[in-house]
Amino acid sequence: MSGAPTMRAALLSIGDELTLGQNIDTNSPWIAAQLAERSIITVEQRTVADDRAAIATAVAELSLRADLLIITGGLGPTEDDLTREALGDVLTPGQALILDDEVLRQITALFRTRGRDMPQMNCKQAMRPCTMKAIRNFNGTAPGLIGRLGVCQIVSLPGPPREMQPMFIEQALPHLALPPVKDVVLAGSVHQLGMGESDAAQRLGVMMHRSRNPLVGITVSDAIVSARVRATGVYDRATRELEETLAEIEQRWQPYSFGRDITTLAQSTGALLRRAGRTLATAESCTGGWLGKLVVDVPGSSDYHRGGWVPYSNAMKSSQLKVPASFIERCGAVSEPVARAMAESALAQSGADDALAITGIAGPPRDDLPSEKPLGTVFIALARKRGGSAYTLVRHFIFPGDRLTVRDRAAKAALQMLRFALLDQPDDVPLLWEFVALDPNPPAIRSHART
Ligand code: AMP
Ligand code: MG
Repeated sequence: MSGAPTMRAALLSIGDELTLGQNIDTNSPWIAAQLAERSIITVEQRTVADDRAAIATAVAELSLRADLLIITGGLGPTEDDLTREALGDVLTPGQALILDDEVLRQITALFRTRGRDMPQMNCKQAMRPCTMKAIRNFNGTAPGLIGRLGVCQIVSLPGPPREMQPMFIEQALPHLALPPVKDVVLAGSVHQLGMGESDAAQRLGVMMHRSRNPLVGITVSDAIVSARVRATGVYDRATRELEETLAEIEQRWQPYSFGRDITTLAQSTGALLRRAGRTLATAESCTGGWLGKLVVDVPGSSDYHRGGWVPYSNAMKSSQLKVPASFIERCGAVSEPVARAMAESALAQSGADDALAITGIAGPPRDDLPSEKPLGTVFIALARKRGGSAYTLVRHFIFPGDRLTVRDRAAKAALQMLRFALLDQPDDVPLLWEFVALDPNPPAIRSHART
C-alpha cells in the first residue's frame, strides 16, 4: 500500500481564555474535521495567549511546517485582540497595517443596521497587513484575513464558532488552493477490551509503521483500546484498503475486538444474545447498576435483558438474592462464593439464560482492608444455562484506579466475560486486570467450577 500526497494543515487558536483553561478550544476539532473531509491532514494544533510576540512566533513556525495555516481568535476590537498586528509583524515586517476602506464601510453599515453608530474602537477591525485580503463576516463585526507566507496559505478567522464556521465554509474555502478532490481521507476504528495496549500493538506489528497507508494508531479511553485507521487516496482504493485494514485488525485482536466505530461493548454483546436467542439478568453490588445501565443504553435491549438486582448491603444480598449469610460471614461479601451465589440466584429467579454478578471493593482507600483483598478487588460471576444443565464461571480481578474507574472496568469486564462465553471461547482467555495468584497452589478463589 502506498502513501498519497496530502496537503498539510496547522491550526492556531488564540486567546487567554483558552490557554488559561477557562474556555475549551472547540474550533480546532471542528476545522480539522472539515479539512479531513477535503483530503487535508492536520499535522499540528497550537494554542497561544493574547500575546503579540507569541502569536507572531507561532505563525512563523507553523507556516514552515504546513501548507495551510488556519488561525482563529484575536480579531476583536479590544486591546487584547492582536492577531492582525502579529500577522503584520510576520508577513510585512517594518510596515504599518493599512486601513481597508471597503471593510470600514461594511462594519459601519453593520452597526447602522443594528441601530448604532460604530464605536471608534471598531475601526481597528478594518486594518490589515497590505499583503492580506479581508474576507467578510456576515454574523459579526470582525472580518477575516487571507494571505500567504512563503508557500503556506494563511487564513485568520474570528474566534466565536457561530461567526467562524460559516466564514470558513463560505468565505475562506472558495479562496484556497485545495488538493484535487480525487484524494479522500477515510477514517475508521476497531475497539477491544481486555488486552493491554502494548499487547494490542504487538499483535499489529508492522501494521503500525508510521509510513503505512492506511495509517494505524492506538488510543485508550476508559479501558477501551482502539485502533484508529486513516486511509488516504482515491475513493475506491482508500475504501478498499480501509476495510482490509480494519478487518485485519479485528482478526489479530480476536477474541478481544468487539466492534468498529461507534459500536459499544454492550451493543455487540447484546447482538450476540439476540442472535443466540438468550436472555440476561444482572446482580450488582459495587457497580450499583452500572452494568444494567450499559446493557439498557442499547436500544432494543428489552429483546434480551430480563432485569437485575442491585443489593448493596449484606442484608439485601441475603434477602433478595438468597446469598447464605454463612458465606458472607466466612468469606466476606467480596468473595468468590458470594459472587457465585448472586449469579446463580439471579439466573434462577429471573429465568434468564445468562446471569452476571459483580461484587467488589471500589474504594475510597481504607486501612482495614485485608491484604488478600486490596482496593479494586472484584469478583465477577457468570452463571449460564447450557442444554439441560447450568454452570458458573467466577473470575477474580484487581482493577487499578479510583472508585469510578474500578466500577467502570468491572461492568465492562463482566460484559466481555459474557461475550467470550457467547462466542464459545475457553473460560480462561486472559483478561487484563485479572488476579493471578503467584502461589502454585492458590486457594480456590479463581474458580471455574461447574455445577
Ligand atoms: P475573539 O474575539 O476572536 O478572540 O474570540 C472571542 C470569543 O470566541 C471567545 O470569548 C470564545 O467565546 C470564542 N472562541 C475563541 N476562540 C475559540 C476556540 N478556539 N474555540 C471555541 N471558542 C472560541
Ligand atoms: Mg480573544
